[in-house]
Amino acid sequence: MTDEQLLRYSRHILLDALGIEGQQRILDSHALIVGAGGLGSPAALYLASAGIGRITLVDDDVVDLTNLQRQILHTEARVGMAKAESGRLALAALNPAVDVVPLQSRLAGAELDALVGSADLVLDCSDNFTTRHAINRACVHHRKPLISGAAIRFDGQVSVYDLARDDAPCYHCLFPEAEDVEEVRCAVMGVFAPLTGIVGTMQAAEALKLVAGIGESLNGRLLLLDALNMEWRKVKFRRDPDCAVCGSAATAG
Ligand SMILES: [Zn+2]
Repeated sequence: MTDEQLLRYSRHILLDALGIEGQQRILDSHALIVGAGGLGSPAALYLASAGIGRITLVDDDVVDLTNLQRQILHTEARVGMAKAESGRLALAALNPAVDVVPLQSRLAGAELDALVGSADLVLDCSDNFTTRHAINRACVHHRKPLISGAAIRFDGQVSVYDLARDDAPCYHCLFPEAEDVEEVRCAVMGVFAPLTGIVGTMQAAEALKLVAGIGESLNGRLLLLDALNMEWRKVKFRRDPDCAVCGSAATAG
C-alpha cells in the first residue's frame, strides 16, 4: 500500500477487525454489480470509496429523469446516457484508482456465467426475477458469494448466499422459480428513495465484510424492512436439499 492509500483508507485501517490486511483484501477484490439503479448506486459508491480493486458495473438501461429521485450515481446532466457509463463517471470522480468496467448489457447465458466466474463476489441489484434467478444459477455454478437486495414501495429485503460454503442456501432455495410469478417493479410501482439507499448500502457492507473476511454475514438470514414503520424482521432459512438449482439432484453428474 502506498502512503497515499494508507492515508486515504486510514479510517478503515484503524478498525481492529479490518486493519491493513482487511483493507488490502478489499483493494485486491473484484465485485460484479448487476444493476446501476436504486440499489446499485449506493452499493457501487461505497465499494468505490472503500477502495475495492475492480467493479464491473452492468446495466442495459439509460438514465431517465424519473431515476434521479433515488439513483444517486446519476445526474440531470447525464439523462439519456447509458447508466453503466454514467456510473463509471461518478465512481471515477470519487476514486479514480478503482478499475471500473461499464457494461451496457442485459446479462444472460454464457456472458453472465463468465463474468460471475471472473468476479470475487456478485451484488444482485437488479429489478426482475428472471435476472435474479440467472445470477443465482451462475453463482451456484462458480460457488461465488451472492449479495441480494430488493426494494419496492416501502418494503426492503437483503440477504447473502455465501455459496462458497457447503451448507449455504441459494436464492432459489428461498424463492423457488414460478412461472406465474407477478413482476412488481419500481419502474411502475413507486419506491421510497432512501429505502433503496438503505438496502444498497447494506449490500455494500456485506460485500466488504465478505472480501475482507471479517464478521458474520447474512448467510442463511433474510432481513425484511418495513420503512414506513421503520421495523426490521429477520427470517432464518436453510438450504433446500431438493432445490432444483443447488440440490443434490441438480448437481449430481
Ligand atoms: Zn438452492
